[in-house]
Amino acid sequence: MTHAVATPPAITLPVAGGDETYPVRRIWCVGRNYAAHAREMGSDPDREPPFFFQKPTDAIVQDGDAIAYPPGTANLHHEIELVVAIGKAGFKIAAAQALDHVFGYAVGLDMTRRDLQNAAKETGRPWEMGKSFDQSAPCSAIQPAAAIGHPDHGGIWVKVNGETRQESDISHLIWNVSETIVHLSELVELQPGDLIYTGTPAGVGAVVAGDLMEGHIDGVGDLRTPVAAPE
Ligand code: MN
Repeated sequence: MTHAVATPPAITLPVAGGDETYPVRRIWCVGRNYAAHAREMGSDPDREPPFFFQKPTDAIVQDGDAIAYPPGTANLHHEIELVVAIGKAGFKIAAAQALDHVFGYAVGLDMTRRDLQNAAKETGRPWEMGKSFDQSAPCSAIQPAAAIGHPDHGGIWVKVNGETRQESDISHLIWNVSETIVHLSELVELQPGDLIYTGTPAGVGAVVAGDLMEGHIDGVGDLRTPVAAPE
């Protein structure tokens, strides 16, 4: 069997502490999962059920690699997020077993063309072009849960050119990792290689070409993503 067109490259992330890689299958994202961010986006932060969207797998950008300032926007926002890497398949996962499905954790940026997302919200259209574009998912190496455990508290921040823009604690997640897995697995069967970007705290803001984003989560790691000129 030969393919009619070029085979897409496998998308992987390094696994910290060894020479294994983590093959990325799908990228799931949680919307509005910190109360202060829900408020800054004009929403009621009450505990309404979490909602989800996706990014394409090849939106992944490795730690240290630059993203090109994307087309179609004049308001590109950083969203620093705890990323969960699924290691075991599961459908309708029970809360008590949810963390058994986690391979590890990473630091991610859910890059957002905020102007396109806001236009989509106003017109009731899909968010894709605001969220799901090339190079929109920078992600650090995966830290195995076998090495670091399952972090449920710790600082999360992102600096732009050395200035702190977002700073919170992952204990402030409205829906924690277990609960997020429970809800998402009620809607789709999770598979090894699925990443879940768990949502961003308050303080989202714009970056421009030439900026350097540096993200961090205590106990998980660091992510360094420069913004380059448009292609
Ligand atoms: Mn986000």
